[in-house]
Amino acid sequence: MSDCIFCKIIAGEIDSYKVYEDENVLAFLDINPHAKGHTLVVPKIHAETIFDLDDEQMEKLSVAVKRTAEKIDSVLHPEGYNIGWNHGKIGGQVVPHLHVHIMPRYNGDRGGNMHSIISNDGGMSVGQIAKMFE
Ligand code: 5GP
Ligand code: ZN
Repeated sequence: MSDCIFCKIIAGEIDSYKVYEDENVLAFLDINPHAKGHTLVVPKIHAETIFDLDDEQMEKLSVAVKRTAEKIDSVLHPEGYNIGWNHGKIGGQVVPHLHVHIMPRYNGDRGGNMHSIISNDGGMSVGQIAKMFE
């Protein structure tokens, strides 16, 4: 997509610091890092969210996330990671081109975990929600 900032990075029209690349995916350092080695793993095809990728593309993205984390691991040796993505505006997604954040974690870095993103059960019990999936 011509006005997409990540498509421009993939096309080489905007510079980035590459961490990993294969045929389907480019991973580069986040310009505004929240952790040492904060990396974005981006499918080369323009897709806003995972719902816009087919299963094969999703598999390739998943494998690339692992490859990228392996690379980060071998260079920066973090003690752990948070790996995930902001999906949709309400989920905090700002750039509308799917990207998986890899945030390396280090002892004493004072970061949170997945549970610190939100704590709001919507006023429904787990049992009520479970019924909706029956
Ligand atoms: P989001 O909130 O959409 O999940 O995160 C977008 C991320 O992209 C942010 O962490 C932001 O720092 C990063 N970002 C935005 N523009 C650029 C850019 O031009 N280059 C790089 N390397 N990262 C960017
Ligand atoms: Zn794009």
